[in-house]
Amino acid sequence: MAQRYVRVQSHLGHLHYGLLHPDRRVQVLDAPPWLQGQPTDAELAPAQYTILAPCAPSKIVAVGKNYADHAAEMGTPPPPEPLIFLKPSTTVIASGSTIYCPPQAQRVDYEGELALIIGERCAQVPLEEAQPKIWGYTIANDVTARDLQARDGQWTRAKGFDSFCPLGPWIVRGINSAAHLQTFLNDQPDPVQSASIETMIFSPGQLVAYISDIMTLLPGDVILTGTPAGIGPLTPGDRVRVEIEGIGALENVVAARA
Ligand code: MG
Repeated sequence: MAQRYVRVQSHLGHLHYGLLHPDRRVQVLDAPPWLQGQPTDAELAPAQYTILAPCAPSKIVAVGKNYADHAAEMGTPPPPEPLIFLKPSTTVIASGSTIYCPPQAQRVDYEGELALIIGERCAQVPLEEAQPKIWGYTIANDVTARDLQARDGQWTRAKGFDSFCPLGPWIVRGINSAAHLQTFLNDQPDPVQSASIETMIFSPGQLVAYISDIMTLLPGDVILTGTPAGIGPLTPGDRVRVEIEGIGALENVVAARA
């Protein structure tokens, strides 16, 4: 099993980056692993921590319509260059936390996605140097208020509500380039989304090169690489689980915002 890098809150209220062992003990690191954090002697037993999203990004850069089958279901051709937008850092929640549907939206959708974690400050990275800037990979759900996305014409509101970026549960350093992504609702045995990440239009390296030519990426920043076909609505009471082969499963429950 690949090493799993986590971020946790201890029972004493402290935030730590750590290594998650198979028996769920967490070995504490002295810094984020992409900033050369080293293992310490401190260890947390499963009852002594809660898992957080695995990084705390300064920004989340997301890519729209990066799978041809999803662009088609949205009724548009694939974009000729990456179509990017930002999600605020306050959208991030951990695996196991609640996605809140806001009262302004009539339709809130899941979008299962591969997330890239940037390891170092980078600007204007040439394509041939882009891949090593990706420190690791995790799973994201780019939750979207679909009706507000259509109504506003731009996506800040639709993509920006608190809790609209479940992220985690942990980071792995490498992933198979043909890894499968699947999204499941509740106890349904069949996935609502199922695709190989290989069918992405713009590859992770191309996205890092393209985005870093626009804005400086900082350590711990996140790139969401787009969702395949099969998007659909969430309703309060639902459970949604995004799985990526070689990483694990990101699972969240859905509730109406009070
Ligand atoms: Mg998306």
